[in-house]
Amino acid sequence: MNSPEDLSRHTPMMQQYLRIKAEHPDMLLLYRMGDFYELFFEDAEKAAQLLDITLTTRGATAGQPIKMAGVPYHAAEQYLAKLIKLGMTVAICEQIGDPATSKGPVERKVMRIITPGTLTDAALLDEKQDKLLLALVPGKNILGLAWLNLASGRFSVAEIRPDSLDATLERLKPAEILLPENYVHTALENLKCVRRTLPPWQFDYDSALQRLCRQFATLDLQGFGCNDLHCAIEAAGALLEYAKSTQCGALPHIRGLQVERENIYVLLDAAARRNLEISETLRGEPAPTLYSLLDTTAGSMGSRLLRHWLHHPLRDRAELRARFDAIARLIGESGAPAYAQTHQGLKQIADIERITARIALRSARPRDLAGLRNSLLALPPIAGETALLDSPRLTLLANQLHAPETLVTELTLAIQPEPAAVLREGGVIATGYDAELDELRAIQSNCGEFLLALEARERERSGISNLKVEYNRVHGFYIEVTRSQADAVPDDYRRRQTLKNAERFITPELKTFEDKALSASERALAREKMLYESLLDNLAPHIPALQEIAAAVAELDVLAALAERAETLGWVAPEFTDNAMIEITGGRHPVVEAQTANFIANDSLLSRTRQMLLITGPNMGGKSTYMRQTALIVLLAHCGSFVPAARAKIGPVDQIFTRIGASDDLAGGRSTFMVEMTETADILNNATENSLVLLDEIGRGTSTFDGLALAWAIARHLIEKTRCHTLFATHYFELTRLTQEFRQITNVHLDALEHRDHIVFLHSVQEGPASQSYGLQVAALAGVPAPVIQAAKSTCCS
Ligand code: ADP
Repeated sequence: MNSPEDLSRHTPMMQQYLRIKAEHPDMLLLYRMGDFYELFFEDAEKAAQLLDITLTTRGATAGQPIKMAGVPYHAAEQYLAKLIKLGMTVAICEQIGDPATSKGPVERKVMRIITPGTLTDAALLDEKQDKLLLALVPGKNILGLAWLNLASGRFSVAEIRPDSLDATLERLKPAEILLPENYVHTALENLKCVRRTLPPWQFDYDSALQRLCRQFATLDLQGFGCNDLHCAIEAAGALLEYAKSTQCGALPHIRGLQVERENIYVLLDAAARRNLEISETLRGEPAPTLYSLLDTTAGSMGSRLLRHWLHHPLRDRAELRARFDAIARLIGESGAPAYAQTHQGLKQIADIERITARIALRSARPRDLAGLRNSLLALPPIAGETALLDSPRLTLLANQLHAPETLVTELTLAIQPEPAAVLREGGVIATGYDAELDELRAIQSNCGEFLLALEARERERSGISNLKVEYNRVHGFYIEVTRSQADAVPDDYRRRQTLKNAERFITPELKTFEDKALSASERALAREKMLYESLLDNLAPHIPALQEIAAAVAELDVLAALAERAETLGWVAPEFTDNAMIEITGGRHPVVEAQTANFIANDSLLSRTRQMLLITGPNMGGKSTYMRQTALIVLLAHCGSFVPAARAKIGPVDQIFTRIGASDDLAGGRSTFMVEMTETADILNNATENSLVLLDEIGRGTSTFDGLALAWAIARHLIEKTRCHTLFATHYFELTRLTQEFRQITNVHLDALEHRDHIVFLHSVQEGPASQSYGLQVAALAGVPAPVIQAAKSTCCS
């Protein structure tokens, strides 16, 4: 039906539709018709089903009924949100021509393509989460990646080893991925995000380089330090072009590339990121997690940065110390913490980051600009108070919290204190900003006065005391007199309408006024629109300044939240050392502690002579909690946060690995044991002596004999070859004998007491192996019937 030669059989409007649809075949096309966005043919069927809206038909074209479904344009956002959530891509086609003057169908054009990875509208985005678009290009033993947060303008590139793609995707969690055709990688198979394949020429290096240099107005990419990243540049070029095509315009808020070298982070493998429940529980819930516990930020920019920090622990200790110092200053002396005031101040600040992106994309709404203005006006006191706190990082942030004077003035003068939500109804531009607009508005509001004055004058002139000046929508303005007095009207009265008992007239003066009044309202709206557009132009040069302010607000917010959490939860600043050690005294699991009445603090001591802790003890004794808390404390320290411990001294850490719990990856076609061994292989291949490795119940997925043999061999490898810091929880009691062979292994256990027929978990970590596993007691506790327990007991003891 869509082939060009067939088009002539269709109505002119359908021809236009089909032409536009042919350019956007793989997405839903929302086609503006008056007050509706309509979908046709298969799109209509799909949308009717997805949105639960009525599928109708609208006449016929080429002898076929046209299937149609539509949504009112003023409610379009809620439908768009639903479609995007379902992973759909939507092209928005607007009427751009003037219906009054166009011959045939009004000119229409796709103005925007909404895809899951390129969202910027407030209504479509989760305010606490970034949505990333990622592009990937394979090279020789390397993958080039580029990713963009269109709602902030942050654009990053990296080159990674193919086997770390899984971990990288788990870290970035892109909403949409662009790939060259025919590229396959196991890490992509079960990914819950939209994948889009592009022809290989779109990833061409030379055009990528050209596009990027044009975007950043540079001669080359040397200044961004990515000259050597051939594949990543290819990915970035394709990504930029795609992002531009979705916005059908320029992206002036993307001003540079950040090169991400993996070695700046403490790396977490994909399993660690999940197992540590940083921002999502193992069941996929947002709480309780480390992030849900820590997120007491005042605004959504802070909230998003906190999530980013937690997922991007740094190795740069100078940066981390700067954060610790700032947090300490924000806590201040006991009694009057500074963070409370900072928090109060920051609560008045809108989402400057996303508003700035919308200014760049020219989609900022009037209330975005009012919010921005109010935020900028609220900055000086926050900056003033922050500067008083004696910390280099806070001073730096305070200096960044200054908006250019011209920007604040422009916004204050231009936008009404409380503007209307949408521009099309007016009421956005402030009085006094533009003389012509003021005059047009004055005509409308002075209308009543003018008519009363005119009525008085005409009564006097004509001597008709009950003469009335009135208005109705159909006939406009008129002077009405009763029938009997119709002959007494002055000569310049022209008859407009005759009613049963009255005659209606118009005078040249009233006609002039009518023309002016009726067009004034229309002209005022057009003038406001024009002023708003030029205001957006005037704001564009301030984008870099606004991005800097947004970043400073977000960081100050995170630091204040971490200060509040540290004080409320009783956390301390960790210390770093160059010695290979992790020395935690009185450590707690932050999330479990928040949900447990009496959490028992435990020490974790690891060093060159105490490289591996072999942890035994009953199920439910607290082994996993203990291992995770150690990793979480190390992680938090590298995010620049205080930590839940009495004291923590941490040596160099490059990676955190976990192999915890049994999880089948049935969707991926891997059994529990296969998952376990894949994760273990990753650890054995990639951990270094500065890595922290958590192993729980290794070898459980196979026969006891194999399992034990494997666990034994893995422990030996980690001690002899990898020499990493390891927490090794096991039920294989036989393993506790490893300490006889290796003095670097220490047995510790979680204690429990048997009281009558009950078991009481003490949750405290003690040196030495557990004396028994309490398997039967735990089974009884779980409700296994007494006769079964009894039978098991007699088997054990016989
Ligand atoms: P295991 O791994 O030994 O089976 P878990 O670490 O899963 O045990 O702990 C089981 C439960 O015990 C936890 O859900 C928590 O409620 C409680 N628990 C664990 N550690 C502690 C502790 N240190 N203090 C208090 N309660 C704890």
